[in-house]
Amino acid sequence: MNDCIFCKIADKTIPSMTVYEDKNTLVFMDTAMDVDGHILVIPRVHAKNILDCDEETLSHLMSTVKKISRHLVNSCGYEGVNLLNASGESAGQSVGHFHIHIVPRKKGDNIDAWPHFNGAEHDTKEMFRKLVIK
Ligand code: AMP
Repeated sequence: MNDCIFCKIADKTIPSMTVYEDKNTLVFMDTAMDVDGHILVIPRVHAKNILDCDEETLSHLMSTVKKISRHLVNSCGYEGVNLLNASGESAGQSVGHFHIHIVPRKKGDNIDAWPHFNGAEHDTKEMFRKLVIK
């Protein structure tokens, strides 16, 4: 996609701090400066998000997510990771090229990476009946 910033990062039209790359995926530093070590993993082929991503691309993407997560824990002094993704504008997606955020974690780092929900409006059983796959 010509106007996609992450496609441009993938084809090197726009520079990035590339942590890792292979035939199918690219991993680079998120420049938001919101948390130490914030990394983005993207597929090279354009998919907007998980809703239109084909299975093979998804598989490559998650394989790289695992590789980078293991690298952070095995070689960079971290103990765990948070994986974050917004699929769709209503979910908070701001860049329309599928990406997984990785936030490296260690005990006592004082990072609050979990969303703050307002509490459910509907009973869990009611939601279950709506959501169950029949
Ligand atoms: P999301 O809101 O989940 O779509 O996340 C988009 C992320 O892309 C944000 O965390 C931005 O900081 C990040 N971002 C946008 N442009 C760039 C860029 N040129 N290089 C690195 N990160 C970027």
